Amino acid sequence: MLRSLEINAVLSGLEKVHRDRLFWKPRIQLNLDCFVCERVGRTTTLERGAERAACWSGRDEQHFIAARISAFDVTSQEDRLKLRTVVDFWWAPFKDAKRGTDATPLSDWVRLHYGSYCPHQETTSEGSIQTNVRRPTGVYCGGCKTEIAVDAEVPSIRLLV
Ligand SMILES: [Zn+2]
Ligand SMILES: [Zn+2]
Repeated sequence: MLRSLEINAVLSGLEKVHRDRLFWKPRIQLNLDCFVCERVGRTTTLERGAERAACWSGRDEQHFIAARISAFDVTSQEDRLKLRTVVDFWWAPFKDAKRGTDATPLSDWVRLHYGSYCPHQETTSEGSIQTNVRRPTGVYCGGCKTEIAVDAEVPSIRLLV
């Protein structure tokens, strides 16, 4: 059945000079239980605009799954850069092939990517935020090394349907 997860993330404390040059990149890594390879907690890579996603089923192995980014809404509000995104994916019940645990359509881990342009050094750099890191932590410009934002909030993941 078709399921949808909504992910919300924010970078706060945006520094003035880099503020309008910080952006979310249209790429998501998300933990999903994959009924194709019958394993729970697989890392799935999604690109906005792609009609399928990749499940990383082994160290260097991957296979395609029916999942896509169906919404990718960025809003900036004073010193906050927000992202609301929705991932649609096909899910069916199964038990993990090795551990025997029941699969769920939920996810407990996400990584989101951002890019920034440095007006001083005229370079572009990128980084990411993810669920399980110590917070708050600074986000630094790859060009001039200024702290340009703060990663203070754990991204939320919510099952819509
Ligand atoms: Zn898989
Ligand atoms: Zn800079």
